[in-house]
Amino acid sequence: MALIDNVKNRMEKIIKDEIEKFLKDRDDICKCEQCKADMYAYALNHLPPKYVVSDRGDIHFKTDIMSVQMQADITRVVLEAIDVVSKRPRHGLKKVK
Ligand SMILES: [Zn+2]
Repeated sequence: MALIDNVKNRMEKIIKDEIEKFLKDRDDICKCEQCKADMYAYALNHLPPKYVVSDRGDIHFKTDIMSVQMQADITRVVLEAIDVVSKRPRHGLKKVK
């Protein structure tokens, strides 16, 4: 595989993990695939991408090398994404709960 194909946005996995982490503690909102995907897209659109060239296919990102400010931003945006999407879910006209 060409090295250029190894350029990955490491934010993707971080955001996915953060969403799962926060949703685990929430029983009051919809966690369907559509809502989760919307939360994911919202958070990705509101955070700067972190593109890296991953050698050896390593796409695991160590959050501890991020600045405290960046970690705070990620948490804030993910919580905002959950809030925005859960208030205006797009999962059709079916009942939320
Ligand atoms: Zn939903």
